[in-house]
Amino acid sequence: MKKAKDIMTTKNLTRLVLTMAVMMTVLATYVVVTNHRTVSHGAVASTPGTCKTIVVVTSGDTLSKLLAEQGFGHNEITAIANTLKADAGIATLRANSDKIEFQRTSNDSPVSKIVVIPSPWRQVELTCTENGAWKCNTVEIERDVHAVYKSGEILDGDSFYLAGSRAGIPAGILADVYDLLAFEMDFERDIRAGQKFSVMYEENFSDGKKVDNGRVIAISFQALRGNVKMYRFKKSDGTSGYYDENGNGAIKSLKRTPINNAKVTSNFSGGRKHPVLGYTRAHKGVDFRAPTGTPIPAAGAGRVVARSYNRGHGNFVKIRHNGSFETLYAHMSKFAKGVNVGTTVRQGQIIGYSGSTGLSTGPHLHYEIIKDGKHVNPLTVKLPAISNLGDADKKKFVEYRKVVDKAIEQLDGKPDLFIQM
Ligand SMILES: [Zn+2]
Repeated sequence: MKKAKDIMTTKNLTRLVLTMAVMMTVLATYVVVTNHRTVSHGAVASTPGTCKTIVVVTSGDTLSKLLAEQGFGHNEITAIANTLKADAGIATLRANSDKIEFQRTSNDSPVSKIVVIPSPWRQVELTCTENGAWKCNTVEIERDVHAVYKSGEILDGDSFYLAGSRAGIPAGILADVYDLLAFEMDFERDIRAGQKFSVMYEENFSDGKKVDNGRVIAISFQALRGNVKMYRFKKSDGTSGYYDENGNGAIKSLKRTPINNAKVTSNFSGGRKHPVLGYTRAHKGVDFRAPTGTPIPAAGAGRVVARSYNRGHGNFVKIRHNGSFETLYAHMSKFAKGVNVGTTVRQGQIIGYSGSTGLSTGPHLHYEIIKDGKHVNPLTVKLPAISNLGDADKKKFVEYRKVVDKAIEQLDGKPDLFIQM
């Protein structure tokens, strides 16, 4: 019985996958119910009789040093470094990340091939030609992308992070989901027991082994003011973005909560008793709990118009964004390097670190949004989308969204199932 049901699901999914493939302009092949299968990829295969030495780059390693250790002379080191830079754009090695493989035909013969591995998906192969020159060739490793789906529910006393981890969503994907939902949600006030959420995301495989997680494909969250949905969609111009179910840009010009997973400790209000001054006055922003030193990202792209100190705000940064918005970040322990008046910052760029300077009872971020010169509530103000879809793309998006929703329906409750993309 179970088998028959599985086969049915597989058939349905195959049809689904094909539609999805057309929409996503990627090649779909088939649906697999387990990940145990053998795939042969265009990855480097080792020839029998080749001696390989794999070096993991650690702190203090330089290309020259590693090459010298393998017996290369000064001139050859310079030639190899120049080729790597010119043909592969690699000028420096990254510690604890890059690997280099040295190949010899026998134990005591000179190195005949060098493979620099800067990522699991890219290898740069340097081969020594007959006349002694080095030739460079970049190999992109074929990715086997699986779309997986995880769903969960907020339990009493839960944070979204806890509930997400329990649902089996990896930390890196959860961080991406946070970043996206931060445009729409207040993680302190919008979280209630019983709320359901789901995430569809990519897992990248190579030679049958999972290597890393890819991008978030779709998110759904039962927020207080309704279901928040986001879909990753590739436009006809080749750029990708996230859109709500109606095709409106989900990425807003500003974030309501600049710091991920930060609790709101004091809300925006027209009048409240100031904890230090003791008398009632308006709270023109929102306070987020943030231990001293927590990096503060810019809520949106813009230009720094103030980086200063005053008695109330302590160390603060003010950014002017496109249009009529400004944001202000107060009580910083220190400013980020290179952030000065006039500096252009991108959304998410770290501008400073939280602290308790100025009139403050403890480390937190005081965040203000100023619209047309007036303070507004960051958690409720309507924020413009960065990009909306044109008519043609919108039509395509609606079809694509239906396909993704259908796929989600099929994957729901089947954590072992995935869609081959
Ligand atoms: Zn405040």
